[in-house]
Parts: sequence; structure tokens; C-alpha cells
Amino acid sequence: MPAADAPRLKVVYILGSSRSGSTLLDTLIGNADRTLSAGELGHLFWAFDAARAGKTSALSWCSCGRLVTDCPVWSTVWAELATRYDLKELSRQTDRFETIVRSAPTDVLAPVVLRGALRRHLEALVFTVRSLARITDVRAVVDSSKCPSRAWLYSRLPSESFDLRFLHVVRDGPTVVSSAVTHFEPSEVEGRPAPYPPLLAVATATLHWLYMNVAASMIGRLHRRRYLRVDFEDFAQRPLESLSALESFLDIDLEPVRQRIRDGQTLTPGHILCGNRSKLSSAQLRPPPARPGRDSLSAGQRFVFDALGGWLQWYYFQARPSRMSSAIRAFSGRIDAPVALGSRREEPSSRTSSTPDLPLRPGRTT
Ligand SMILES: [Zn+2]
Repeated sequence: MPAADAPRLKVVYILGSSRSGSTLLDTLIGNADRTLSAGELGHLFWAFDAARAGKTSALSWCSCGRLVTDCPVWSTVWAELATRYDLKELSRQTDRFETIVRSAPTDVLAPVVLRGALRRHLEALVFTVRSLARITDVRAVVDSSKCPSRAWLYSRLPSESFDLRFLHVVRDGPTVVSSAVTHFEPSEVEGRPAPYPPLLAVATATLHWLYMNVAASMIGRLHRRRYLRVDFEDFAQRPLESLSALESFLDIDLEPVRQRIRDGQTLTPGHILCGNRSKLSSAQLRPPPARPGRDSLSAGQRFVFDALGGWLQWYYFQARPSRMSSAIRAFSGRIDAPVALGSRREEPSSRTSSTPDLPLRPGRTT
């Protein structure tokens, strides 16, 4: 139960398509002091269902190496939820509102049509996040579920109790699509049959990349001051500068994370739910090859991607590069200099720890 005098809890919600590096970003931020990487918190019920059904997939494991049912954090959260809610009903609500395909109508209609049910779902979300923060004694929780309707729920959190930031991680479209097609397999989350014929697989993966990113950008339009787009390739190429920029936006001290990277240490994966399977090994930041996706798609696959998603690829990477990428490029050569986003960019040392009052206009260029 949120007490009236409970401290304001920071929630960092990561948006974007699958295979965009959200789990890595989540893990990095979660290595800050008193900050928890929750992973794909929206998949809590699927994780418990999978673990109880004896499935040994990544879905049923916490990154601490235990089944979620045996993890001290998630089993305690689950027990607390059970004292207050009908968990079967909560699971049904989650299926209804947070499965990506099914939630698409909710993303559009939620404010009008589904008010009562969504309000109950929001109450459960608040309870879950508060429980998680109390059990782990943190001041910030990172959730990388990415589902747009969940972002809508978070945006309804009372601002006097929650300090919300949206991070939208965008990765080169052909790279994402190539990865998705290569690893196409039955999805326990979406119940998707596999494999698709190659061009249909490319079309499906492209539409997923398109939908998740367009929805995230729309959320950014609605919540400009709480939104930051992160281009994954730029982030991975310049992690120290990027973390400085993130620190400014999130108002979380990320120096412990930068220090680990400088020292070549691995990151602590904590208690990450679901997400990319790489979470099961210690995360390390490695610069990815420069946008290899186009070359790994056939001519036909490139045509399908360009026809469906080419315009968004152009928009993100040519027409409107993210403010964060513009800022860190401006600081290239000054490794690990604090990067302030916004008009005070020329005075990086003036970065303060206050909540950023930055004009977070997505796509603003230098
Ligand atoms: Zn765990």
C-alpha cells in the first residue's frame, strides 16, 4: 500500500521493438545504486505460469539464476500480490491489456472505452511496483516491458508519488528484422506459430518494428518532457558519453556504471524478468557492427522492409536523429565528458542533479 508519506519512486519505462537492446539498457541502468532492473515486468504472470508448468525456457527464469518461483524477490512480490488480488483475474487483465497484438486497440481506445477495467489494472500495477521497490529497497525501478499500452498505464501514475521517465530505444530496422527472421521460433508470449515463409517473416518483423516504434514516438509526443529517444548503435559505440547523457535525463547517478565499464568489469544482472536471453550471462557492453542488417537481407527481403518500414528508418536515422545522439556526437573526442541535453550543452559542467527541465523535443538536431 502506498503510504501518504512514501518517498517519490522513480520509474524508468523502456519502449521500442524487440531485439533493440532494451535488456542491455535496463541492466546498465539497474547497476546504479538503489536502482532495480525489473526486466519485462509486464510478463510477471507469464513467467510464473511458465515456471509452474515446468517449462525451462528463458521466460521462467530470473537473471539471478533461479526459477521465478524460487527467486526471493519475485516469489515475495507474488505472495504480496496474492494477499490482495485474484491472481487469475490479474493474469487475464494482463493478457487483455498487455499482449502486444491484442493491446493495439487498447492503445487507441483505452482512455475512452476501457476506463473501469484499466483503472483496476493500474491499481495492481502501482501495488506491484511499490512492493518491488520496498522488498529490494530501491528508489528507482526500470521496467523494459516495451508494451505501448503499459506506457499509457504508467502515464496515469500520480506524479506526487511517481517520477516517470520514458526511454525509447531504437535500433536500425534491417538489423532488428534480420535478427528476428534468423531467430524466428514459436513465441510463448504471443502464441505465434512458426516458421513463417521468409518474406512473410520479414513483413511480420518489419510491422512489429514499425508498430512498436511509432507507438513509442507517439507516447513521446504526448510526454515530451519525460521522453528520450536512444539510438542503440550510437549508445553502444559511445557508452560512457551516452551514460552521461542518460544521467542528465534520468536524474540517476550512473557514475558507478561508468566506472565498471572503464574498469572492464562485468555488470550485475540482478533480478531481471524475461527479456533477451543474454541476461543469463553477465552483461558486457560490446560495440555492435555498424548496421549490418541490410547486407544480411536478400534483395526481396530488402524490398519488403523498404516498402513497409523504409520511411521510418529514414525518419529516425536521417531526417530526425535523436537529441541524445546529436549531443553525444557533438562531444566526440571528449570521452566521458558529462553531456547535458538541451540548450546548456555548451556548458557540460553545469549539469545539475535536479529534475531536467529540458525541452525534450524528439529529433531535435544540433
Ligand atoms: Zn531473482
